[in-house]
Amino acid sequence: MAVIPGAKALRDTDSMNASPISKLRNVGISAHIDSGKTTLTERILFYAGRIHKISEVKGGGDGATMDHMELEKERGITITSAATQVQWNDMDINIIDTPGHVDFTVEVERSLRVLDGAILVLCGVAGVQSQSITVDRQMKRYNVPRICFINKLDRGGADPVNVIKGLEEKLDLTTIQLQLPIGLSNDHMGVIDLIKMKAVYFDGDNGEKVRYEDIPADMVDDAKSARTGMLDALSLYDDELLAIMLEEKPVPEDMIHDIIRRGTISAQFTPVLMGSAYRNRGVQLLLDAMVRYLPSPLDREMFALDLDNEEAEIPLTSNPETPLVALAFKLVDESFGQLTFMRIYQGKMIRGDRYNNSRTRKPARFSRIVRMHANDREDMDSASAGDIVAVVGLDCISGDTFCSEGVNYTMESMHIMDPVISLAVSPTKTADRDKFSKALSRFSREDPTFHVATDAETGDTLISGMGELHLDVYCERIRREYKVDVTVGQPKVSYRESPSKSVEYNYKHKKQTGGSGQFAHISGTLEPLPENHEEPYEFENKVFGGRIPSEYIPSVDKGFQSVLGKGPVAGFPITGVKMILEDGSSHAVDSSDMAFQICARDAFKEAFLASKPVLLEPIMKVQVECPIDFQGSIIGDLSARRGLVMGTENRGPLAIIDAEVPLAKMFGYATDVRSMSQGKATFTMEFMKYKRTPTSIQLEIIEAVRLAKTGKAAPPPAKK
Ligand code: GDP
Repeated sequence: MAVIPGAKALRDTDSMNASPISKLRNVGISAHIDSGKTTLTERILFYAGRIHKISEVKGGGDGATMDHMELEKERGITITSAATQVQWNDMDINIIDTPGHVDFTVEVERSLRVLDGAILVLCGVAGVQSQSITVDRQMKRYNVPRICFINKLDRGGADPVNVIKGLEEKLDLTTIQLQLPIGLSNDHMGVIDLIKMKAVYFDGDNGEKVRYEDIPADMVDDAKSARTGMLDALSLYDDELLAIMLEEKPVPEDMIHDIIRRGTISAQFTPVLMGSAYRNRGVQLLLDAMVRYLPSPLDREMFALDLDNEEAEIPLTSNPETPLVALAFKLVDESFGQLTFMRIYQGKMIRGDRYNNSRTRKPARFSRIVRMHANDREDMDSASAGDIVAVVGLDCISGDTFCSEGVNYTMESMHIMDPVISLAVSPTKTADRDKFSKALSRFSREDPTFHVATDAETGDTLISGMGELHLDVYCERIRREYKVDVTVGQPKVSYRESPSKSVEYNYKHKKQTGGSGQFAHISGTLEPLPENHEEPYEFENKVFGGRIPSEYIPSVDKGFQSVLGKGPVAGFPITGVKMILEDGSSHAVDSSDMAFQICARDAFKEAFLASKPVLLEPIMKVQVECPIDFQGSIIGDLSARRGLVMGTENRGPLAIIDAEVPLAKMFGYATDVRSMSQGKATFTMEFMKYKRTPTSIQLEIIEAVRLAKTGKAAPPPAKK
């Protein structure tokens, strides 16, 4: 199509690729590893006609598992593309990959944000597992409505009743069971649809023929009572249904679907379906449920933050006439350039138009927009709010927001926390240097909490992030995705230096060495900021009457800031300081920008050392889940790690322990907790806040840093 400049109104009418937003579903599929997410996704692509063959590479669940990348190579398709579109019952479903291996990273959070709904896949034997809990928690955080699919009913020991119990007890979900299994393990044949009251079987080589039959005679009673249970549960959410049931009238099918849809979207309950992806049973019914019950982009409220107005929340609308707002949520490197996956939140994206990157404030031309299918891609002239597409050859980082001229919104707050832990990494073989740097630069482009730097003293490459696991995940990805062996040093905690009391300063910088001299003079107060104040540093100018010429005020601020990166106590970054500039003096000839910068730098150092500085350490929020028998020893161990146990709760046979523990004492916890609990405990950990270290420990840290510098001993021991 020819693009006529300025002819936007015309172009709006002929966007051939667009279907109504109400017919669109953006869905993620999440699961604990090995529950069958890949198998299920492949079946979905197959039934929706996007791939033409199901390959039999795996051995029915109990055989060896194959790595996803291997799997994809073998099958020659992209199952885990960042977004793949399929059609089902004249609806469009964008299936968005939710990376399972990376907990606690921005990448996962971002992929959850662009979803409108999700399928939580559970193994019919193992039920709710640790990863299911993590994923469910993240989904609750982002209000993502979900449907549960109990998979692997063909396996020995499959017990959907028990899995549902787990969903209710461990995930605290209210479930609505829509199906009953027809036979379990080797006898698993199909499912009973409790809404239609029919038995459903899946015939043909790949289960592609869905056959509805009468319910087998020996299951009629069970099915009737399960249906009554389902309707009773639904009637709690709908008075009309309640009335119909009291009158014992037949309940219209549409009405049931409608109530389930409303309850799912408002997260009042979670529908449960079941089957066996591997044996091709139940998948088409899951697709029906996805389009019926999960929200369209119109059903979700979305907000952007206005960068021109202190990040005020702005509700977004799908109206194509409004300015474009789109979030780049995933980047993929391809041979011909970068593929940037975007979710459009508002307005319309048009091929050939320019949009502003709200982070860099620079415009970029979107010269090619494509929709990704399993193994082909389709060029698009435009794409509208709600949709997920990829833009080819754009230079940006993931998390960037693009807007039409005139608005300056961001979908992600620019307040990114500083990393709390760092470690030295290097490629084991020098030949791998290039691949190694490529991997690091890609990860730091994708994840703003992942930093790469060079240690000025040792020349080592340092990576830093939000926790040990966060960095482990990236080291593992360098090994797996880039095939580079890396040597990893001991993790080091990022402490902070912070003042503990106010001090006044009055400092003169004066140098007269022949020629022109240097003169600057400042005085004021250094004050501690409140604990965990958002900004690490603040500057206030209270100078009146031009005692310091106004052009030198920014020089003073700059001089103060130049010290923040490396504190005088032990070389850690400084936080929690407010510098108030009250007075000073200048010299008509000898004062300069540089003189005031140097003066401020030295004044800061002197004042900071006088402010009784303390070291702050990162405190992690830790939650451990273990069988009750181990509760005592796990709590004892957390206390020995200087942890504060904030609460414990018993859920059935399990104890949930919440604690706040210094990061310095949590290195290697994954291994330790496993051996303490015979492998039965699982835990999650995330950064919470910075807190003052006890004095004795502060002295130990300072001493260790001093010794490390003089080469006499290693830095603080990583292990407890
Ligand atoms: P993922 O790690 O969640 O993506 O799980 P996969 O799809 O890779 O499956 C893990 C293993 O379980 C593989 O060996 C699959 O063949 C097997 N599997 C998947 N679905 C089923 C199922 O419904 N029944 C049985 N018996 N095995 C299954």
